[in-house]
Amino acid sequence: MPPKKKQIPIQKLRNKKKGKKKAKAGKKSACPPVKKREFTQEELDDPLFSDEEDVECEPSRDKDTYMIKHGRSVILAKMPDDVKRRLKNKLSTAITVKCAEENLGLTWTRLKHVLHTEPVDDNLCLSDSAGYLHMYWQTPQLPESFLSDEETGDLMTKVAGFIRDQGQHEMCCFYALSDLISSSAVLHGQLEQYEPLSQMYICQNSDPQEYARLKGDHNCYECSFYSALKFGKESRGIPLATAKEMSDKFSCKERRKFLHGERTFKIKEVYRYKTLEQALQRLKTHTVSATLLCYKGWTKKKQLYIGPRERSGMVGLHEVIMLDCVKYQDKMAIKCKSSNEEDIGVDGYIYVDPHVMFIEERAY
Ligand SMILES: [Zn+2]
Repeated sequence: MPPKKKQIPIQKLRNKKKGKKKAKAGKKSACPPVKKREFTQEELDDPLFSDEEDVECEPSRDKDTYMIKHGRSVILAKMPDDVKRRLKNKLSTAITVKCAEENLGLTWTRLKHVLHTEPVDDNLCLSDSAGYLHMYWQTPQLPESFLSDEETGDLMTKVAGFIRDQGQHEMCCFYALSDLISSSAVLHGQLEQYEPLSQMYICQNSDPQEYARLKGDHNCYECSFYSALKFGKESRGIPLATAKEMSDKFSCKERRKFLHGERTFKIKEVYRYKTLEQALQRLKTHTVSATLLCYKGWTKKKQLYIGPRERSGMVGLHEVIMLDCVKYQDKMAIKCKSSNEEDIGVDGYIYVDPHVMFIEERAY
């Protein structure tokens, strides 16, 4: 039997603008799976279609690592015709190092960083769809020492708890934060076993202005994980989820009231990892959050997810929790916990190939 098609709400952070009205919910699906821009899909897939040049690169924490550069259309305009043609036809194409250097606006320092990762066969690729232009490349196999031992892997899966279902709510960020803090609380002995935190409490408080602005069928919204982490660190803490929040009766229209004396959980410190290796090292003792770039087919069952391929366009971003570095289908994979029930990936977990690197065009 073919798997039933399910719309999964994932987010596109880049186009989020304060004050912009949320698209009116349609009748069939109360919450659209992906935030749509006001362009048609055909336009979005067209490499020559202009993008929004004035979008700010948020948030400012990235100042030290990201440089705001010209957008997709400017870069594409400089690309050789054959590259543009291949992108238009296949959404993804190989480019040479020389092409990257000359046309991407990549500084020599940055290119050196790219080459330092030793792209396999010196191959670099470009993917262009839905307004996103990514350079990506494959890296050599990581040492097996990054693999978690079985006991640690099992422990991380256990402390991160059961797979939840965000349904049609745009709340992956809040589910991920909840799991990140809960798993940490179990590891540090504050919780005896995994109990999810209130996704609604995070939703209504991490960006109260955005929350207050929302009208219609849903009061959930796309949020940057940075804002959610900041809330987790700077607020008085997050209470546990109520039974209703864990059931299919959950509604994002209902505020989560904070009861006097209720137990809360918060983050003491936020760690950022500049390299994948650092994050994988951390995985040996903790769970780590990550933003998954979702290309068409990312939810496919029993696969090793590798990101962009020819004719596979980007559909959005999704916050997940990395649990474990394992061997899957004989290859190294990062086991990520998603919040879209057990019907996707491998029982709700996405196994992601760690040997693909990305740079977004704004970061060149
Ligand atoms: Zn909702």
